[in-house]
Amino acid sequence: MILNSINDCCYYFQGAVNIGYVRSGENGLLIDAGIDKATIKKVLKLLKENELPVTHLFITHAHADHYGGAAYLQKTENIYTFAPAIESAILRNPILEPLYLFQGNMPLPEMRNKFLEGEPIDVDEEVAEGYLMFGEKEIKCIALPGHSINQFGLIIDEVLYAADAYFSEEQLHKHKIPFIIDAKSTLKTLKLIKRMNCVGALPGHGQYETSFQETVEANITYHLEILDSIQSMIDERKEEGISHENLVSLVCEKWSVELKNISMWMLFRTAITSYATYLVAEGKIELFLSDNKLRIKSK
Ligand SMILES: [Zn+2]
Repeated sequence: MILNSINDCCYYFQGAVNIGYVRSGENGLLIDAGIDKATIKKVLKLLKENELPVTHLFITHAHADHYGGAAYLQKTENIYTFAPAIESAILRNPILEPLYLFQGNMPLPEMRNKFLEGEPIDVDEEVAEGYLMFGEKEIKCIALPGHSINQFGLIIDEVLYAADAYFSEEQLHKHKIPFIIDAKSTLKTLKLIKRMNCVGALPGHGQYETSFQETVEANITYHLEILDSIQSMIDERKEEGISHENLVSLVCEKWSVELKNISMWMLFRTAITSYATYLVAEGKIELFLSDNKLRIKSK
């Protein structure tokens, strides 16, 4: 893990999941906390070595790779924690993530792993859109939903900490089908970020970029390609339609995704369903039931 500086107050720890850091006088704000205790311990060590304080934490969204290290941070440091509403309910009750990914059923033990469920944390303040004072600094909090229900990004000194609102192109091709829960909000959020006049942006996974708009545009193109491929797959089966289960399987095959465990199935099934429900909302396809199975056909 490397500590990078963007300007005299904005920094980030570069890793598999980036962690933002903002300094304001005697105050230090971490933006997300990494996946586990080992990650946050490395962050704390680097902060100490660089004589940087840590007093506050902002969790952008309740995915375990972004908050799994927060419980240890709260146990060892005196930390004031912010999180967006709704996401905070999951942070306080992390079983909600494997529960919703498993369609509301009680998750099996193998679904309750560190990628889907972290330790519960305290949230001191639920944040709404607008400005937050942090020491001398004014932080702009912006809702960036789509990847999760109420993910927030932060703008400080014209630097956007974008969380998982967009991914680096490398990440997009690695995951093949990015995790989203709402394709419409995902696209709306991407269009919003593309218009932002920030000096640079840092995604949750990938590089800090000054010309981030190009990467955001590549994300839009990528989501539209997935939507098109799903639409054609359903159009090809115009008469009989396709079962939801087969759609998940065919989309994975088309995009070369191999589901290796049940956690992956839960995540990809959710993302693929998000694209399908977008097409339903657009009036292009419809859901119906046949032989007690959920099926999808073109309109
Ligand atoms: Zn995420």
